[in-house]
Amino acid sequence: MVNKTENEQTGESVDLMDSTQVTIKEALDNLGYPDEVYQLLKEPMRTLTVRFPVRMDDGKVQIFTGYRVQHSDAVGPTKGGVRFHPDVNETEVKALAIWMSMKSGILDIPYGGGKGGIICDPREMSFREIEGISREYVRAISQIVGPTKDIPAPDVFTNSQIMAWMVDEYSKISEFDSPGFITGKPIALGGSQGRDTATAKGVTICVEEAARKRGMDLHGAKIIVQGFGNAGSYLSKFMHDEGAKVVGISDAYGAIYDANGLDVDYLLEKRDSFGTVTNQFDNPISNKELFSQDCDILIPAAIANQITEENARDIKASIIVEAANGPTTREATKILTDRGVLLVPDVLASSGGVTVSYFEWVQNNQGYYWSAENVANMLQSNLVNAFNKVYDASETHKVNMRLAAFMVGIRRLAEAVRFRGWV
Ligand code: GLU
Repeated sequence: MVNKTENEQTGESVDLMDSTQVTIKEALDNLGYPDEVYQLLKEPMRTLTVRFPVRMDDGKVQIFTGYRVQHSDAVGPTKGGVRFHPDVNETEVKALAIWMSMKSGILDIPYGGGKGGIICDPREMSFREIEGISREYVRAISQIVGPTKDIPAPDVFTNSQIMAWMVDEYSKISEFDSPGFITGKPIALGGSQGRDTATAKGVTICVEEAARKRGMDLHGAKIIVQGFGNAGSYLSKFMHDEGAKVVGISDAYGAIYDANGLDVDYLLEKRDSFGTVTNQFDNPISNKELFSQDCDILIPAAIANQITEENARDIKASIIVEAANGPTTREATKILTDRGVLLVPDVLASSGGVTVSYFEWVQNNQGYYWSAENVANMLQSNLVNAFNKVYDASETHKVNMRLAAFMVGIRRLAEAVRFRGWV
C-alpha cells in the first residue's frame, strides 16, 4: 500500500501555487485593488495538518497524514472537497482551496474556498479501511469544520458513501443531526437530487456555451475526454446523448481512441468505481498520445498539469474545457490562447459540483427538498450566466478566459475584506 507520511512538496504543486498567485495578482491589479489585498488573499487563512492512526485489516496500525485548508471566510463559511490520493500534499491542497474561492465567487455562492486531502491510496484499501480513515479524519479536523464554518464534499477518489461515514461521525461528535456539515451525501442522508452528476452537467453546459460562441455544431463534433472518473464518465455520456462523437477517453493507466466514435455505454458498463476501463482493451495508447489525436473539443477531466509546454502545440482541438482542477500549466495556457484556442478554465467549467453542493446545503438548512427538475434548471441558468459573465469580462478586458474568471471570482472576496476593514 502506498502511504507517504512525509509532506512531499512536489515541484508540480509548487508551480500550481505559483501560477495561482500570479493570476490572483494580475486579477486584483486589473480590478484596481491595492497590494495589501493581494498580500492577504494570496495564501489561505488557515492550514491544519493532522496525523491519525487507523487499524488496518492485517491488524497493524498505520498513521495517515491529512490536511484541511481554509482560504478566506470573508464572504461566508469555507467550502470544498476532500481528496484521497497518494500525491496529496500541503501546497496542492492550498492551491485547490484558493480555486474553490474563485468557483464560489464566479457562481455568486456565499462561500469562501476550502479543501482537504489525505495521503492514501483507496484503490488499495478495503471498504472497512476507507471507513476508518474517513471517520478518523473527521475526528481530527472536527474543531474547525461545521455547517456554518467549513463544509467538506467529495473530490478525487471520494464519494457519497465516504460523505455518509463522515457526516455520521460528525453528528456523533457534535451530538446533533448535522446534515449541513457535508455535501455530496446519499439522498437518504439529506443529499440533493442531481449532485452526483453536477460536475459533469456543469462541464457539459460550458461545452455547449463555448461551442455556441465558436459557431460549432455539437452534433457529430469529435470529443476527447481525458479521465473516466465521476466527471469524465458522466460527461462522456451527456456529450454522447447530445449527438457528439466521443472519439477518445483515458484513465490513469492508458487511453483508447477511435476516430469513428467509441461505444460510451459499453465503457460506462465496464468501468470500475475508480474509473479504470482501458485495461479491458488490447492495445491502449498512452495519455500522452491521446492529446495529439484529431478532435474538435478536448476535455481534461483527470488530474493537474496534463497540458504543458511540451504537448500544447500538438493539440488539435479548437475548444478546451477544463473539467479537472489545474490540468493546463500557465505556459500551455499562453501557447493555446495565442493559437486561438478557446480555453474554458477549471474554476468556471468544474463549478457545477459546488453549485449543487450549495443547493444541497440550502435544502439541509431549510429542511425542504427540491425536485430533480428544479435543481437541473437552477444549475443550467446559474452556469450559463456564469459562463457569459466570464466570457464578457474576457472580451471587455481583452484577457484570456482564465484571467477573466479570476477577475470575476475574486471581486466579491476583495470587496468583502475591504468592507470588513481587514485591509
Ligand atoms: N470537489 C469539488 C470541486 O473541486 C466539489 C466541491 C464542493 O462541492 O464543495 O469543485
